[in-house]
Amino acid sequence: MTRPLALLDQSFDQLQDLFASWGEPAYRANQVWSRLYQKLAASFDEMTELPKSLRERLAQETIIGVPAPRMEQRSSDGQTRKILFALPEGAQVESVLMDYERRRTACISTQAGCAVGCLFCATGQSGLQRNLTSGEIVAQVLYFARELKSEGGGQKSEVASRKSDLQPPTSSLTNIVLMGMGEPFANYDQVMSAVRRLNDPTGFNFGARRMTVSTVGLVPGIKRLAQEDIQINLAVSLHAATDDLRDQLVPINQRYPLSVLLPAVREYIERTHRRVSFEWALIEGVNDTPEQARALARLVKGMLCHVNLIPLNPTSGYPGAASTRQRIAAFRAVLESANIPNTLRLRRGIDIQAGCGQLAQRQ
Ligand code: SAH
Ligand code: SF4
Repeated sequence: MTRPLALLDQSFDQLQDLFASWGEPAYRANQVWSRLYQKLAASFDEMTELPKSLRERLAQETIIGVPAPRMEQRSSDGQTRKILFALPEGAQVESVLMDYERRRTACISTQAGCAVGCLFCATGQSGLQRNLTSGEIVAQVLYFARELKSEGGGQKSEVASRKSDLQPPTSSLTNIVLMGMGEPFANYDQVMSAVRRLNDPTGFNFGARRMTVSTVGLVPGIKRLAQEDIQINLAVSLHAATDDLRDQLVPINQRYPLSVLLPAVREYIERTHRRVSFEWALIEGVNDTPEQARALARLVKGMLCHVNLIPLNPTSGYPGAASTRQRIAAFRAVLESANIPNTLRLRRGIDIQAGCGQLAQRQ
């Protein structure tokens, strides 16, 4: 059975072609585009400016492509929610929305599962089901945007947000991170079309500078991204600063070792003049030693970069534990004495398995 045409998978030009082939006027594409990405329509019934006959034809021959939310969980502090989406053919993906004081970040998936197999990652432990289409990637963002809109939506006034510290200042999304399930650069084309579609000023109009794509270090993807004319941020999951340790934690290091990865990142920075983030999951006694911190400092010295430290989120398939506060402090002290900018990221949504690397398919 062929899958019906999903509108969220179409570029604007493809939508235009579709309506042209149906003998519809050219402005139909604009109307549908604006409904999908500005008014966040989830059904054809909402497209009231279209003639009924056209809505019926759309409903017969296409789908919008909004995956069905199978389950929603909220963390006990209410600041993190996780959605499990059911995709056609039984695959499932998870997306997470995190509220911070001044930010509201959607963490979305690019693949159902992941083939890379990093030891400590729950997604990696479960293997790859399939790549997501651009529409399935975009739909996760639209889902959260729609939820936020229905919860009161729009921008809160400055005054209101200053009055209540408990409420985030905006009700809409401020950041999108492609850090859910999957390796974005193993699904490069679909990921980049999704990013461009979200960025489109005539549609969802989400600033590229507020989007971040995170890679395990697939060097060809880093090189391709360096050539794109889009201001999206790049994060590289490093986790170890020596090949012997990184070979173990992130086995793809055997293919793209540090001596190949770091020059690619340097080249990326030279071309784009953009700051790169290095992700580092702190694992007690494994990669949180002063030696690793010193090796890391040597590796990234002089680069336009930032190190994001995150205590490991324990997963059932890996025996490691999160580093203790003292070890984290000692690790950071080494980085600071070498003037390497770094932040310790808060662990979010641990009680609902919505932390980094905890997103996994469970039967
Ligand atoms: N495949 C991409 C993006 C998805 S993983 C990548 O690897 O970068 C998003 C981030 O979560 C990565 O930095 C990854 O290393 C990290 N991560 C995976 N499992 C984790 C865990 N158990 N605890 C903390 N971070 C983890
Ligand atoms: Fe895949 Fe990223 Fe998990 Fe590694 S950390 S297995 S690349 S999702």
